[in-house]
Formats: sequence, structure tokens, C-alpha cells
Amino acid sequence: MRRSIVQRIREDGLPLKVTSRLILALSLVVTAVLIFSTVKAIRSYRALNNSTDIYITLEEQAYELMSASDYLTEQVQRYTVSGERRYLDNYFREAFQNRRREGAIDAIETYIPDSLALYELKDSMNRSVRLMNREYYAMVLVLDATGDTDIPEVLEQVTLSEEDALLTPEQKLDLALSMVHDAEYYFQKGEIRRNLNECLAALKGSTYNSQESLADAARRAFVIVIILIVIQSLNIIAVLWLHNKIGVSPVVKAAEHIKENESIPVVGAREFRYLAGAYNAMYETYRNSIANLNYKASHDELTGAYNRMGYDVIKNNVDMTTTALMMVDGDKFKEINDTYGHDVGDLVLKKIADTLRKYFRSDDYVCRVGGDEFVVLMVHIPESPRVLIETKIDMINGDLQKTDDGVPAISLSIGIAYDPEGQEPDEMFRRADAALYHVKQNGRSGCCFYSDIT
Ligand code: GH3
Ligand code: MG
Repeated sequence: MRRSIVQRIREDGLPLKVTSRLILALSLVVTAVLIFSTVKAIRSYRALNNSTDIYITLEEQAYELMSASDYLTEQVQRYTVSGERRYLDNYFREAFQNRRREGAIDAIETYIPDSLALYELKDSMNRSVRLMNREYYAMVLVLDATGDTDIPEVLEQVTLSEEDALLTPEQKLDLALSMVHDAEYYFQKGEIRRNLNECLAALKGSTYNSQESLADAARRAFVIVIILIVIQSLNIIAVLWLHNKIGVSPVVKAAEHIKENESIPVVGAREFRYLAGAYNAMYETYRNSIANLNYKASHDELTGAYNRMGYDVIKNNVDMTTTALMMVDGDKFKEINDTYGHDVGDLVLKKIADTLRKYFRSDDYVCRVGGDEFVVLMVHIPESPRVLIETKIDMINGDLQKTDDGVPAISLSIGIAYDPEGQEPDEMFRRADAALYHVKQNGRSGCCFYSDIT
């Protein structure tokens, strides 16, 4: 049955190759979006600053137009009051050389074409231009009254009405003065100022709107940047955790288990689990071979009992103060070989070993140390083991007499060495052998304690 991805990950672990590529891709995407959003946030912030600068520039320009218009008024009024020519020259220098009003219109048109502010400013300019016609007429009156014949080109088009031409110079001067000081003139000036205020209000309004939307955009961009920084930080934490969980920790644990000569836990990334599985299989094979070799080196192949080499190792590792060492020898075994053949003899040897194992405990040691010679190391025995041992030996000899399995009967002679004070293994062996000899000399099939013959 096909397994789901989640099942596969749970059972086989995360694949390192795919995981690291996914993490790399995710980090790259988040980093790219983070850079993009940061640039966007910085741009919005700059645009916000820029919009403030533009507002200041445009406001200056609007005031510049008003200031130029006021300057013209001041010069024409001074000219009509004093008749001094320099005021006339100042007027035309401002109107046709400095051209501050046109400059202001151009500046605003550049920054905010088609805007209400520009419309109001143009309106203000048109009024200013219309007011100039009145001012020109007043100037021509003054020129005429003072007899100044150096008439600026622009004023040559202006002709006095028949009625005004007939006025006396004083009357002409009075008329000129009143034309640039009367209510109508100030009304027009007021309209120019009103237009200008409208322009400033529109400017403020549009700047406020654009700043608000720019500030909103900047705020949004910064929030996105913060969210992305949090995501990237979580990503880093997740990567470190994952790195530890599927990479570092399994390797550290594996090293610890290898040091302890154990198989390693199959955890972590899929690839590591594969390595751990392969290592464990190899380690198991190696351990089995070693165990097999050890078994073969220490056991007798025919009977499965420990062999001489096994016995040599065991004898040095048991506590002889609580161990009975028994020398066991088949009685007249040669005859069995001679009568039934070597193969049947082998079966008898196997039966002897099986029967010994059957009657002694599993932690006792049954060793075959010669042809039909066995040593049994009965460990952790009680303080007075005689009855127990004799009973066991009787039962063993009883079993070996039974031939219902087709194996010829045999009896065992057993010499026993037991000394609670503890003797060297070889001394115990010698004593048991001596006791065995005693049994052989005294009719076989039975046992004798070394302590009974000394
Ligand atoms: P005793 O009662 O005095 O012990 O007489 P015995 O005939 O048993 O004499 P002994 O213990 O000396 O003989 C042991 C015989 O065991 C000698 C040998 O031919 C035989 N033998 C040794 N190894 C094997 C074996 O692996 N298989 C078989 N079938 N016989 C073996
Ligand atoms: Mg024998």
C-alpha cells in the first residue's frame, strides 16, 4: 500500500537532501522579499521627506508670486505719488526681467501640473496681469503729466481717453494716484491674495493627502519588514532545531553507542537512518561472527558442552568456596565403542552431556575435558551439598540406564571436590580426579567426595 508523505516522514525520517534544499529555497525567498520590502520602505520614507521638501518649495514659490505682485503695486504707487522715474524702471524690471510671478507658476506647474493649487495660482496671476492694465494707464497719466517723453515700449499701446487727455497735469496726477489707491484697486489686490490663500490651502491639502498615503505605504512596508524579520528569525531557530534534531543529536548519540559497543539508534534524517541501519546490520553480523567464533572456540561440537579451553576460562572465574568440582567419567565406554561402533558411542556421549545439563542448573557449567571425561562446576551451592549432589548423581545414572531412546545404557563414575575454604582450580581438579579414581577402583557407577578418602 502506498504511504502518505507524513507517514513516510514519521517512519523513515526527513530526507536531508530535500529538507536542506527546501530550507535554502525558503531562506532565499524570505531574504529576497525582505530586501525588496526594505528597499520599498526606505523609498516610501524618502518620498515622504521629498513631499515635505516639495511642499516647502511650492509654498515659497506661491509667496514669491505674492511678493512680486506686492512689489509691482508698491512701485506703481510710489511712482504715482512721487513721479520719480526710478519706480517706473523698478516696476518694469520686475515685470519683464525678474519675472518672479512667471517663475513661481513654472515651478508649481513642474511639480503639480493639473492641480487645484496651480489653477488658483494662475487665477491669481491673471488678476495680477489684469491689474497691470490699470497700472499702465496710471503710469501713462503720470508720464503725460510730468512731460516725460521716454515712454517704455509696452506703454506705447496705452492711449488716454479723450476726456482724460484734456485734464490738467495735476488732475492727471490725481487720477493716476486714485487709480492705484482706490477701492477697486484694493479689491483686485484682495482677490489676488485670496487666490493665493486658496492656492496655499490646496497645496496644504494635496500635500497632506499625499503625505498620508505615503506614510501609510511606509508604515505598511515597515510592518512587512518586521513580519519578515520575525519569519526569518523563526526560520533560523527552526533550522538550528532541525539541524540538532536530525543531524547533530543522532550523530552524538551514535558516537556514544559505538563507544559502548552497542548498535546505534535509528533516528534523525532519512539518510542518517539508512547509515545507522547499515551500520547496525554490519555490526550485528560482526557480533554474531565473533559470538560464533567464541562459541566454537569454547564449546565441544559433539555434545554442546564447554570444551577444555572453555573450562580453562571458566575455572578462573568461579568462586571455588561455593563451587563443587565434579570429575565425571563414563564407565567402560570403550566397550560401547567396540560393541556398537563409534557413532553410537558419540550418541552416548551426547546423552551423557544432555543428562548432566538436565539435572544441573542452567548456571552450572558442564564441560567435556576428554574422550568420555566431563567436569561439572556446580556453582553457588548450599553449605552441605552432599545429599543434593548424591541425589542428582543417582538420578543421572538412573536416566542413563534407560534405553527406550535406543541409546545403549551407561553409568558414570564421579569424583567430587568441595572445600568451603576455597582451593586453587587445579588443586580442586586434582582432588576430584583422585576421588574419581577411588570410585573406579571401587566398582564404578557412583560418586565419592575427596574429603571421604583423605
Ligand atoms: P573406564 O571405565 O575405566 O573409564 O573405562 P573406559 O572404557 O571408559 O576407558 P576410558 O575412559 O579410558 O576410555 C575412553 C574412551 O573413549 C577411549 C576412546 O576410544 C573413547 N573416545 C574418546 N573420544 C571419543 C569420541 O569422540 N567418540 C567416541 N565414540 N569415543 C571416544
Ligand atoms: Mg571411561
